[in-house]
Amino acid sequence: MLHRIYNQVPFYKTIFDKNSIHPQDIKSVEDLSKLPFTKKSDLRDYYPFGMFAEPMNSIRRIHASSGTTGKPTVVGYTKNDLDIFDEVVARSLVCGGAKPGMKLHNAYGYGLFTGGLGMHGGATKLGMAVIPVSGGMTDRQLTILQDFEPEVICCTPSYAQTLATECKKRGIDTEALNIKYAILGAEPWTEAIRTQVEQGLHVTATNIYGLSEIIGPGVSQEDFEERGTGSYVWEDHFYPEIVDRDTGEVLPYGEEGVLVFTTLTKEAFPLLRYWTNDICSINYDKNAKRTHIKMSSIKGRADDMLIIRGVNLFYTQVEEVIQEMDFLVPNYQLVVSRVGTMDKVKVRVEVKSGVDPLNEDFKNQLLSKIKNTIGLSMEIQLEAPESIPGSEGGKLKRVIDQRVL
Ligand code: ADP
Repeated sequence: MLHRIYNQVPFYKTIFDKNSIHPQDIKSVEDLSKLPFTKKSDLRDYYPFGMFAEPMNSIRRIHASSGTTGKPTVVGYTKNDLDIFDEVVARSLVCGGAKPGMKLHNAYGYGLFTGGLGMHGGATKLGMAVIPVSGGMTDRQLTILQDFEPEVICCTPSYAQTLATECKKRGIDTEALNIKYAILGAEPWTEAIRTQVEQGLHVTATNIYGLSEIIGPGVSQEDFEERGTGSYVWEDHFYPEIVDRDTGEVLPYGEEGVLVFTTLTKEAFPLLRYWTNDICSINYDKNAKRTHIKMSSIKGRADDMLIIRGVNLFYTQVEEVIQEMDFLVPNYQLVVSRVGTMDKVKVRVEVKSGVDPLNEDFKNQLLSKIKNTIGLSMEIQLEAPESIPGSEGGKLKRVIDQRVL
């Protein structure tokens, strides 16, 4: 792969030459740390196809990131790359509880986003019957869930919340549904949402992680019997490192930092030390079913981290506090504003049905819990159930930043 990269991707040849390194100098994965990182901005500089290592007549599919943060990055796949994609997604599905013969309700968006077609290919390889519902049109999703009786659903965690809420609203008895497993990813989520989705849809919910640049969904996956202990990274294809976000130094197992991947087997779009910007830790779990390394759940993207009055804040930290309050559901939004030179965060969060959103005692409980665990005072606005907009099918924006920066 190193030779392919050196000979076929001008960006990488320049990097090797500039650093006086030749592919032959990299003798083990540990030696990769001699190389600089590849960042999203590098990919943008070569937009759209300049990072491809294979000619267009070898490319069988092109995807682009959904552009959550800026201009999309374009990725390509050879036939072999698509086979690898199918393989890692098939593994992920099994890890999440799926089996051949089951039906997959695929509510990830189809199109340039890797989610829909990625899950589709892996499920086909596994021998599942794929229902390519795609995202949105919640009425139709609910009809299919009831009538087609799929055993497995995949979508974003925030959309699974929406489906759970809508089932409740319409009086759909989710215990009577055939659905057993939910495989959720594409955005950060915590145990708070797992509890809500598992109870609301009567499923076992696991995490799937991935990004277009590395392959799409199926870079790592949580096992349905080991929930909460991290997601297995398919490290025979994607080599992970955790590095310090400021110095770039490789950190020991267990320490939190930026997740970096090197693709080991990809042909069309190989990447060396790709800086995902996602914050987590990696570690081997001796008691686990499988031997691959596990990554912890993603706290957030480094560039989505808010710095409020000098305190670093990821929205998942607020979600974790919400989990501990039995009068709340994790349907929430953070509104960031600036008054003078002072940044303020307002937490809008829904109460459970039957709870009075004007209850001052509950409001104060949340306020002091946030202050004690996160170290920031925030304005609290408790809201009635179903008053905060949820996902309509894709990734949900949890932070509304009203500051003019
Ligand atoms: P975009 O960068 O436009 O969102 P992608 O659809 O490729 O494009 O998204 C990949 C990103 O989505 C990851 O880098 C990560 O930030 C986020 N992501 C994907 N899966 C998960 C997950 N299970 N948990 C947390 N974040 C995730």
